[in-house]
Amino acid sequence: MRNTTSRRWLTALPLSAIALFASLTAPGAAQDARLDDEQQIGQEVFNELKAKGEIVVSSPLYDTLTPIAAAVTRTAQPRYNHPFKFYLVHESAPNAFATAGGNVYVTDSLLYFVKNTEELAGTICHEVSHTIHHDSMTLIEKERKVERRELGAAILLGPTRAHILAIALIGKLRSLGYSRDAESAADLTGSDVCAASGYDPWGLVWLFQDFDAADLTQVPQLLSDHPDNQHRVDALKKHFRENPSVFAAFSSDVKTAKPLVVPQNAPEAFLR
Ligand SMILES: [Zn+2]
Repeated sequence: MRNTTSRRWLTALPLSAIALFASLTAPGAAQDARLDDEQQIGQEVFNELKAKGEIVVSSPLYDTLTPIAAAVTRTAQPRYNHPFKFYLVHESAPNAFATAGGNVYVTDSLLYFVKNTEELAGTICHEVSHTIHHDSMTLIEKERKVERRELGAAILLGPTRAHILAIALIGKLRSLGYSRDAESAADLTGSDVCAASGYDPWGLVWLFQDFDAADLTQVPQLLSDHPDNQHRVDALKKHFRENPSVFAAFSSDVKTAKPLVVPQNAPEAFLR
């Protein structure tokens, strides 16, 4: 049974992105000339998460995240024109999301959900790939077109515009998020990035298999709207088969995975 209204795993932008659209489209919204569109959007989401007190500024959990993030960045950074930055955020649902501009957010609960280093690395590689592919910008542009068509030019500058757009967006992000093609493309690029960073790209496959095995009562948001796990696993396996020079060296056996050391009940200080 699937609940199609809840948030997609590794898929949707945070709902705080709504606030971002509101501020970007509000009349007289301040534009910082030094920031390009992608950075501007990334900054709006960051401000929103900060205002909600979600961003972890210091915690022993960073000792787990940072070495993986650093290795992935060395591989991914040449493919994107703004610096990647990684933040832990305090959310009960295991999740990760990347915004335009280079910020990547990993929820603290994800560190406790993944079963090994490769699964966490795979998640991070998948997210930076959304950024490399400019997927959130594509989503925004799509939404702008729909809005222009539906609302017409006459009220585009009115104060209701941002509100109406936000309502439309909530539905869109919740029900659709990124397209299936965008998700699969992020998986494949993510596996390339992971392999180049020295992490077994089978981690993503193991993660999807964990989703299917997870206890729904414990992690309802994870599986509820992820009907495509098998499709994504199949696409990854095909990609591995077709590129043996990159992938043949990696083991598909989860028993070879590196354990992930995560401090229990780690304290967290929040950015205010
Ligand atoms: Zn995704």
